[in-house]
Amino acid sequence: MSLSEVLARLSQAEHAALRPSGSVTLIAVSKLQPDTRVRAVLQAGHRVFGENYVQEAAAKWPAFRSQFPGVALHMIGPLQTNKARQAVELFDAIQSLDRPSLADKLARLAQTRGRSPDLFVQVNTGAEPQKAGVLPQDLDSFVATCRTMDLPLHGLMCIPPEAEDPTPHFRALAAMAARNGLTGLSMGMSSDFATAIALGATHIRVGSALFGARPKG
Ligand SMILES: *Cc1c(COP(=O)(O)O)cnc(C)c1O
Repeated sequence: MSLSEVLARLSQAEHAALRPSGSVTLIAVSKLQPDTRVRAVLQAGHRVFGENYVQEAAAKWPAFRSQFPGVALHMIGPLQTNKARQAVELFDAIQSLDRPSLADKLARLAQTRGRSPDLFVQVNTGAEPQKAGVLPQDLDSFVATCRTMDLPLHGLMCIPPEAEDPTPHFRALAAMAARNGLTGLSMGMSSDFATAIALGATHIRVGSALFGARPKG
């Protein structure tokens, strides 16, 4: 799909859910995509992108940023503590905050730098052993811990189990955000973003539907 088609579907889904237009942000997930495809989306005017790997983002975004002002970059992949410093310099938002040691590190970096990227806590709504994210039953206390550290918590993020209906996962994430007073909801990918918007997503993360299939790394 072209950028304009994805944005048209986003608008339709907002409208169908009786939500104000502009309430959902499209994050164009550019991980592993060739530069020519990414540049085409930048040239079409889009400015919000998501990347999974610090190394890859550091290699490609400084040059794009100097050519295309106003880019906002979201980190959506698991973040190793030893890459946190590089990540806070590169990203405007980090959506993969998932453990106390990373919260500690981000809090210390925020203190020394005087600012922090917007943070989303990743929740492992399916309690999948191989997947990153705070378990649902640990979320409330983790949010409370982050708040004692003065971290700028913006919302929650989830990646539902692949072969399941995402609906209960999106609903659960929305309920967890509401009871914790968090307004950001990053949920919905290429195959299910309209459902996510119906259930309150504020950020959708769309890769292959926008750029085409990712070349195998
Ligand atoms: C790769 C990725 C996406 C995009 O997935 P598509 O199915 O290509 O839209 C979204 N979110 C996360 C966390 C990802 O790693």
